[in-house]
Amino acid sequence: MSTQTVVPEASMLSDDLDSEVLIERLRAGPWSCFTCGAPVGGHEYLVGYVLGLADEPRCIQHLAEQAQQPAVSLLEAVIGHISRRDCLRRAWTWVGVEAGLAEDEILRPPSLFRAAATAGAPAVTSTHHETKLAKQRPVAPSEVAERWDAGELSCGDLVLELRMRLRALQPGQIIEVCSRDLAAPQDLPAWCRLTGHTLVSDEHPVYFIQRKQE
Ligand SMILES: [Zn+2]
Repeated sequence: MSTQTVVPEASMLSDDLDSEVLIERLRAGPWSCFTCGAPVGGHEYLVGYVLGLADEPRCIQHLAEQAQQPAVSLLEAVIGHISRRDCLRRAWTWVGVEAGLAEDEILRPPSLFRAAATAGAPAVTSTHHETKLAKQRPVAPSEVAERWDAGELSCGDLVLELRMRLRALQPGQIIEVCSRDLAAPQDLPAWCRLTGHTLVSDEHPVYFIQRKQE
């Protein structure tokens, strides 16, 4: 334990607060899968939270179905994102500690990976691995179907609302998002890669996101 006092930077402070709020939410678990009713633990809740499914928790198999990718590769991608974001990593660690996992199992919980391995590939497979590599380009105002000022919404709440707004658009339509969340430059591109929507252009605080084809 260090006795040094470190004055947190704004972004660290916001991450501290986010992880506390997130851990409070995790105390409310377990949940039931929105699709099949199976029990949903904290790890699955967090994977859904990252995907924008905080209000509809799902088991790993149905998270994979929502994300339209095999459960194991979805887990790998989401855990990669979680490990780079302090608030998410703290919450993920909290779940592992509560579950009594050994230190070397915390980041990659063995039971979760076993469940993912048996979930198999979802019936629907998307082509978003190509679309996510699309080159960024300027967006004309006439191309924008919706403008949304997301204010300082962050992390799971930002993508929860964004997911609902994209769902209301037609495939291929573009939403312009203004987000003053300090982590948005990391979070929104990562979320687009995870979900298959296309980040057409981004210059913080403005992001143009095109709804995927379905
Ligand atoms: Zn399920």
